[in-house]
Amino acid sequence: MSEKFDVIVIGAGPAGYVAAIRAAQLGLKTACVDAFVGKDGKQALGGTCLNVGCIPSKALLDSSKQYYNIAHNLPVHGITVEGAKVDLGTFIGRKDKIVKQFTGGIGQLFKANKVTAFFGKGKLLKGNDVEITGNDGSKQTISATNVILASGSVPIELPFAKFDNKFIVDNAGALDFTEVPKRLGVIGAGVIGLELGSVWKRLGSDVTVLEALPDFLSVADADIAKIAAKEFAKMGLNIKLGAKLTKAEIKGNEVALTYEDKDGAHELTVDKLLVAVGRRAYTDGLLAADTGVKLDERGRIVVDEHNHTGVNGVWAIGDAVRGPMLAHKGSEEGVAVAEWIAGKAGHINLDTVPWVIYTEPEIAWAGKTEKQLKDEGVPYKVGTFPFAAIGRAVAMNEAIGQVKMLAHAETDRILGVHMVGPGVSELIAECVVAMEFKGSSEDLARIVHAHPTLSEAVHEAALSVDKRAIHKGN
Ligand code: FAD
Ligand code: AMP
Repeated sequence: MSEKFDVIVIGAGPAGYVAAIRAAQLGLKTACVDAFVGKDGKQALGGTCLNVGCIPSKALLDSSKQYYNIAHNLPVHGITVEGAKVDLGTFIGRKDKIVKQFTGGIGQLFKANKVTAFFGKGKLLKGNDVEITGNDGSKQTISATNVILASGSVPIELPFAKFDNKFIVDNAGALDFTEVPKRLGVIGAGVIGLELGSVWKRLGSDVTVLEALPDFLSVADADIAKIAAKEFAKMGLNIKLGAKLTKAEIKGNEVALTYEDKDGAHELTVDKLLVAVGRRAYTDGLLAADTGVKLDERGRIVVDEHNHTGVNGVWAIGDAVRGPMLAHKGSEEGVAVAEWIAGKAGHINLDTVPWVIYTEPEIAWAGKTEKQLKDEGVPYKVGTFPFAAIGRAVAMNEAIGQVKMLAHAETDRILGVHMVGPGVSELIAECVVAMEFKGSSEDLARIVHAHPTLSEAVHEAALSVDKRAIHKGN
């Protein structure tokens, strides 16, 4: 007889491991199956996010920022440092140590919460059995009343620029270069392309980003994207819009690229190429043919608003289903599903999921963009406030960007907040709370914000919605 659980989670990324911990907290006998192999050849829990995504990219962004600041920020403070050098072994080693600390931490959390971890590839069979195939090919079957599919996503590969992970790399490869590429090509000016392009630019690479779409960062609010594009250009990121990669050939130690824009075909040679053209839901080998779980036209697992697949006891969460491919979105779905399984009132609101891009300056938003409101015919008011008028930002020598708040013209309810500037990855949280509580710009305008802090930009933007910002003309 196979071992029986209340809940089996397939995938231990931020969606799956959080679901497993919450299910166990609620007294459910829980297992989590994951196949990710770490750099040391052992099981590494935490999925894309902890191993080759959120955490390692932020570690390298922070290290590279420290280095960049020596030449580009410290002199303004009257501090000069001569002979600064990057030791890439230490630089990458620090990142690896952080990854290990966090992936290991999940193992400890599993133990503390009595989640049983299985190492191997999980396949859902009809009737909610899960077959686990170990790396050595051994097989075992476990069963459960509920199975949560949390298999995540993988990078999209372009057929004419296949990853060899030496010259043409995905996110994992670009987190592990053994030397700073002299010339780095990045395909796709999305979140991953911009963040990892920034890391290597700050260390001295000549970075060219090719983006097929004519508009920069079209998922963000247009005003915010415009400010960000200007700052990235100042930093030396060469972003070519309307430029579609059509060919990439490894020739010796270089990659020869062909891209097309409105003026025709162009050639570009780089030392390394990062292809960051998006990610696709990963369901390879996840489902036996007769489970009844459906995939949509983009290969994502079909779920309803409660993340239920329509098959009795089978749920799906995270990057493998609809909605933004963000760690915190998957985690909250994981908590909600565990609570629904336990008969509690789970909750997830995809309308207030915050987006953050950890570039310099940072970009963050939640809710609707101005274009979306226009397209939907929603009447709105706009309030903006520049960081140039925020004392703390000036004191930090980071007085770049602005906060833009969109509120309903009649009800004043906050519909979207968009920011580019210092610390906005943290500032967005206040706006998400206000939006989740169905708050108005007046609510934020009446709340005392500490002085001098960056959060005053949010306060002033809220005041500006009603044309009564104090520290700028209205
Ligand atoms: P994943 O993290 O992809 O985890 C899925 C896990 O399931 C993996 O371990 C996989 O091996 C395992 N698996 C799959 N199929 C099976 C199977 N059949 N059997 C067993 N195991 C299986 N998001 C943010 O919110 N903030 C960020 O700053 C951020 N930065 C990022 C930077 C980079 C470079 C990248 C690539 C992504 C970043 N993301 C970020 C996105 C984030 O990593 C994903 O949204 C998140 O990891 C999705 O979580 P998940 O649990 O759904 O899937
Ligand atoms: P994201 O999905 O946010 O990671 O962004 C990926 C980006 O890659 C999108 O903006 C796409 O327009 C862009 N993209 C996709 N294919 C190509 C290509 N062949 N050349 C240049 N950019 C591309």
